[in-house]
Amino acid sequence: MSDATTTPLLPAESFAGKTAFITGAGTGLGLAVATRMGRLGANIVCVSRDTGHHDRLLARGQEDGFEVMSAALDVREPAEVKRVVREACERFGRIDVLVNNAAGNFVRPAMALAPKGFKAVIDIALNGVFYVSREVGRRMRDGGGTIVNISAPYATTGKPHVVHSACAKAGVEAMTRSLAAEWASYGIRVNAVSPGPFVSTGAADRLWPSDEMQEQVRQAIPLERFGTAEEVGELVCLLASPATPWITGAVWLADGGWSLPRPMVEGMPAEALRRRRGSDAERHP
Ligand code: NAP
Repeated sequence: MSDATTTPLLPAESFAGKTAFITGAGTGLGLAVATRMGRLGANIVCVSRDTGHHDRLLARGQEDGFEVMSAALDVREPAEVKRVVREACERFGRIDVLVNNAAGNFVRPAMALAPKGFKAVIDIALNGVFYVSREVGRRMRDGGGTIVNISAPYATTGKPHVVHSACAKAGVEAMTRSLAAEWASYGIRVNAVSPGPFVSTGAADRLWPSDEMQEQVRQAIPLERFGTAEEVGELVCLLASPATPWITGAVWLADGGWSLPRPMVEGMPAEALRRRRGSDAERHP
């Protein structure tokens, strides 16, 4: 089993003087990314629907001496996105980094998934990513910038019971590559991080709401533990930072092996495998 120690990958001041616009920065992965970028010198623009979720980040900004602008924003509303991006630029001068982290998800068999539920997830996790990328991209056109989108491994593998999220994330990966190619000439790099199951209250409440389910998910991870928001966040910061100037259009998988194929036979005891190998060796010396 690997341990969850996160070795910091970036030098202090990596984001000094920069401004990062992070959707859903008040909780989970968004909070981890915003905290780390703030501590590395960035001003943070924290947007989500409920500004009550921003209190922890605001407190960390005060304690650690980085600026936090907190704004209510539903990323499904293009006019609101435009207004908040404008306000952020008025306050900080420009936006250097965008992290499209906000998403919604829940577990539902496709045959029981209402069209309204499918649409809600696509609207937040795919359309919202486009609306925010478009507005921020326009602001980055003169002077460049970096964008990191948050995907999920089932964007490429597919996964039962989360078809809505899988389709949204597949679109996000296509958008990552398309915009990376289209906006490279503006000095805008666009990448994605694709995390497997990591500890977050939002995910626990909606995706593995009981201890039993949580244990089942853990057992499906070859490295035998959930990720942490901090270790995934460190990769997001690395891709957003000046330390990766030649990386664009990449989707970095960080999932403890969760998306790798499972064994031919689940739970095959090691002893049975050894016996079998032994008899093979006798037959084919
Ligand atoms: P989380 O804590 O629930 O974060 C989701 C954030 O999105 C919340 O802060 C929420 O804030 C915001 N949000 C939701 N709808 C919004 C909307 N319409 N407009 C603006 N903001 C909105 O979940 P998380 O686990 O950290 O997930 C973060 C990202 O990682 C997501 O993209 C998720 O798909 C991805 N991911 C997570 C896992 C995992 O195991 N946790 C695995 C793979 C990928 P408000 O409620 O205030 O709006």
